[in-house]
Amino acid sequence: MSKLGRMNAEKIDNLVKKWVRPDICGLSSYKVQEATGLIKLDAMENPYIWPETLRDDWFTRLRNLDVNRYPHPQAPGVKLALRRVMGIPEDAQLVLGNGSDELIQMIAITLGGPGRTILSVEPSFVMYQMIATFLGLNYVGVPLCPKTFDLDPGRLLAAIEEHQPAVIFLAYPNNPTGNLFDEAVMLQIIEAAPGVVVVDEAYAPFTDASFMSRLLQNEKLLVMRTLSKMGLAGLRLGLLAGPAGWMAEVEKTRLPYNINVMTQMSVEFALNHHEVFEEQTSAIRASRERLLEALAARDGIEPFPSDANFILLRLSKGNAEQVHEGLRSKGVLVKSMHGSHPLLADCLRVTVGNPGENDAFLSALDSVL
Ligand SMILES: *Cc1c(COP(=O)(O)O)cnc(C)c1O
Repeated sequence: MSKLGRMNAEKIDNLVKKWVRPDICGLSSYKVQEATGLIKLDAMENPYIWPETLRDDWFTRLRNLDVNRYPHPQAPGVKLALRRVMGIPEDAQLVLGNGSDELIQMIAITLGGPGRTILSVEPSFVMYQMIATFLGLNYVGVPLCPKTFDLDPGRLLAAIEEHQPAVIFLAYPNNPTGNLFDEAVMLQIIEAAPGVVVVDEAYAPFTDASFMSRLLQNEKLLVMRTLSKMGLAGLRLGLLAGPAGWMAEVEKTRLPYNINVMTQMSVEFALNHHEVFEEQTSAIRASRERLLEALAARDGIEPFPSDANFILLRLSKGNAEQVHEGLRSKGVLVKSMHGSHPLLADCLRVTVGNPGENDAFLSALDSVL
């Protein structure tokens, strides 16, 4: 490096230390594993691509898309299509996000602030805590029950009483554990919450359970979904549904034009062919059951029940890192959860792939165990 370059780097370093918020300096950025050339079972993506006829039709629309203009600020076509396929109650309003990650941020901006608390359970989706940290909010993570990964009503109700959270996030089914929480306890939490409870239904395409139909029976309930796990992860579209009073406030924090023209057109188009995604996601559900059985039949593996498109599994003590690396060397990428939370010791999380990918995963597993 040139002398000038070195001098500048030091200067920047000092200025960074002086001015960047210490809590941001202390963070590490969200890590995504290198996946080139590997069978990708680490990120809950849908393994299936679009049928050729659908692609052709989509390309025709793309050709006619003008990108010199800003997108429609409210994306009404997208909202209508979402209402049609998701059974959103007529009186509920929608806010759209660039992925549901962005909606978590908008909710936290709307209800957060100095001295405000965001509460969730642990282990769960890490963005709840990360976004609370970005915004300088208090974050409280209440541990789930060991073994079942279900909600611990005693601890949760005590934490709600003590911390009076502005927002409670509950992923249903939960990531990375895959289970649905006890419905009666969920309702108890919604009842006891002083502020908003966001039920994050990112894995809705893989379960029959949902809080969507309860949306207008409780003033404090909001339901969040995403199209990512259904098969449109690359387009980035999330939605928040809830009573008009809450939605109008969250909408104020939405950056103008957050849903770009390609996403608006493509999502509308895809949802008009929703049957394609229903076929794909039901194939994934069937594969999940086969994969669960295959894993349960193996020695030294404890798979946990799943209502999502992934399976959490526990290996014999001390084995997770070595198996994770072994799988990678055999060409299969999964996610190691070991070390991310005490309740996830010796655990890996594998996304359900297509039958060929699942078989490749199982035989790689057999060869490294
Ligand atoms: C994947 C995931 C999300 C984020 O989805 P995007 O819409 O892609 O940002 C949100 N919540 C949970 C629980 C998830 O697993």
